Amino acid sequence: MEVATSTVEIPLGSQYNIIQIDIRREDLIHPTIGGNKWRKLKYNLEQAKLRGNSTILTFGGAYSNHISATAAAGKLYGFETIGVIRGEEHLPLNPTLSNAVSWGMKLHYLDRSTYKEKDSFEVKEQLCDQLGAFYMIPEGGSNYYGLNGCMEILTKEDEQYTHILCPAGTGCTAAGIALMLKPHQKLLVFPALKGGAFIKDEMIRFIHMIDADQEFVEDIMSRVELVTDYHFGGYAKISPELIEFLGEFYNAHHIKWDAIYNGKMAYGLLDLIKKGRFSQKDKLLVIHTGGLQGIEGIEQRIGEKIYP
Ligand SMILES: *Cc1c(COP(=O)(O)O)cnc(C)c1O
Repeated sequence: MEVATSTVEIPLGSQYNIIQIDIRREDLIHPTIGGNKWRKLKYNLEQAKLRGNSTILTFGGAYSNHISATAAAGKLYGFETIGVIRGEEHLPLNPTLSNAVSWGMKLHYLDRSTYKEKDSFEVKEQLCDQLGAFYMIPEGGSNYYGLNGCMEILTKEDEQYTHILCPAGTGCTAAGIALMLKPHQKLLVFPALKGGAFIKDEMIRFIHMIDADQEFVEDIMSRVELVTDYHFGGYAKISPELIEFLGEFYNAHHIKWDAIYNGKMAYGLLDLIKKGRFSQKDKLLVIHTGGLQGIEGIEQRIGEKIYP
């Protein structure tokens, strides 16, 4: 599958030098199932079908891109879907959940303490008793099959790049990309959470799913660098500065970033460029992981439009 690439030019310190940045538009894969959540669903849907499950159950917060993508994919590929949502029901439903319901997803709410135990045998059994048989996909679609999908983000042509950049939540996408790096390439990972250094361990956990050989894992991780300074206070936290940046970037380059993951990475990238981190020789590929379905919910939350 060929995914579009956009190129933007960013000034490098002195105004006569620019650096070209290629952006892999995973956000354009599909209008409702875009980005890395499509990558992670691909082989999970295949497994559900192979195992004869017509219902998919998965987990997420009320604004989750993964809940949205699973609902849309269920409608498109003919699966019943159940979204297990963290916390209580809030009516009217926010744009993410009302779209999910309109695509046929059934919502099931779990209070926060039960949700924390969602991967336990007890909670799974309880869900089976209440909801019947299902193929279960973990939160964010981050499992072995999700990882395999993320290993298809980089293509043979991408060997030309020296640096690949991606955001991280669970680290599954970053691990999938890292597994496919060439020896001359570096992966810069931008965690969307505060204290994002833990993403390194999570990436190692995912890489183990493919091969647990210690030298193999160390070799891959030697090409990975975490950039942990651009979380803006933590997961789903946003600041006026970030919102302003998103609007300015859109005006300059006509590309929208989501505010939770890619926007923070893009802000971080431009800040690193300003600080002289890259030279004109470097060839950068930024992975746009999608997530734009969440913009409407954030605009409601902050009471202003981010994009025209
Ligand atoms: C879920 C998500 C991520 C994080 O992906 P992980 O594989 O969990 O690290 C990044 N960007 C967007 C837009 C997402 O929806």
